[in-house]
Amino acid sequence: MRFKQTDFLKFQSKQRRTRLIFIASALFVLILLIAFLVVFLLFLKNGGREQSAEQATQIYAGEHSGELIEEPPPAEPDEEENAESAVPVEEETASAEEDAGGENIFLLGADGGAYYDSNAGRLYTGGLDVFAAESNFALTEHKLFFDDSQQRSGRVGVGDGLVDDITIADGNVTITCATGCFVEFFDEDGELFLQLTDPKTIYETVVVIDAGHGGIDNGTEIAKPLLEKNVNLEIVRILLDIFVSEKILLLPTRSDDTRISIEDRNAFANGIGDYLISVHNNADEASSRSSGTVVYYAESGFDFPISSKELALIVQDALVNKLGTRDRGINHTIPFRLLGGAEIPAVIAEVMFLSNPEERERLSDHNTLFDIAGAFKDAVESLPAARSH
Ligand SMILES: [Zn+2]
Repeated sequence: MRFKQTDFLKFQSKQRRTRLIFIASALFVLILLIAFLVVFLLFLKNGGREQSAEQATQIYAGEHSGELIEEPPPAEPDEEENAESAVPVEEETASAEEDAGGENIFLLGADGGAYYDSNAGRLYTGGLDVFAAESNFALTEHKLFFDDSQQRSGRVGVGDGLVDDITIADGNVTITCATGCFVEFFDEDGELFLQLTDPKTIYETVVVIDAGHGGIDNGTEIAKPLLEKNVNLEIVRILLDIFVSEKILLLPTRSDDTRISIEDRNAFANGIGDYLISVHNNADEASSRSSGTVVYYAESGFDFPISSKELALIVQDALVNKLGTRDRGINHTIPFRLLGGAEIPAVIAEVMFLSNPEERERLSDHNTLFDIAGAFKDAVESLPAARSH
């Protein structure tokens, strides 16, 4: 039998096909083996993480109700594997999340009840029944109150420039921020979360409004029981209530009757604000006839975006125009510590005299306080923007 050229080609091609099938089968088996090995390794790795999540529960949640648990000892820097599978919690959760998606998330409580996303600057409280949230002076501390049947407690150090640490104790989540950290509370899809940002990245202008005195410091008591600290605070409260702006952020140094040092007021304003306006009311022990409005500034005050003197003029004009008070002019002769410590344009506005019977009467009237707040609102709205966005 004679092979035709075509038969030979067929034979050759059949031989090649057999060889190809053999190689393909071998490759398939090899791939299967590799896949099995990968799955096995992943299983081992996940097992380790679950174990450390349990450890996290013991350290930060557990049955230690009502007390803060000691921080875990720092991991040995040269033992990477130990650091991965053991304490401390923040390093463990951070590294786990970095592996997962490059995000830096800190879990609070092993059930994931609340967690802070450092990259996004967000603290989520999904799964917790949050019933209140509040911020205190200087926005360095933020609290969430929630119904915590498990009585979680613990502290997570963050230190990302915005948040220093987050603590859970007695049903409260307390977020301690660096000065200049700004928190907005959002309700999204039924979950409350906090957005932590530097407000200067959002707002063209940040104005710090300071209610003078507070706590044991009553301010002038000459119109007792009407205390200056309470009048100042009420004006600021009304102002915050009526002020609405997408471009200007108004931040109070205090929103309740607490005493804050001049240094802390300055630190807050310098850290977060573009302008500082301090609200006061005057007293003249020598004469009950003294009346009117005066705004103080420091001659050496900072002058961006405008000088302290220009700021004083704007505030003075707004107050006198709205209230019809006697115009005592702007003044830089008194070296107020608050103005000396300011690194932004800053003024102290003495709206009226509590020592003057007529002005005291006006300051006892809510409508007048509303007008004063309106005057400060006018002043704030007419300030030059510190940035353009
Ligand atoms: Zn005062």
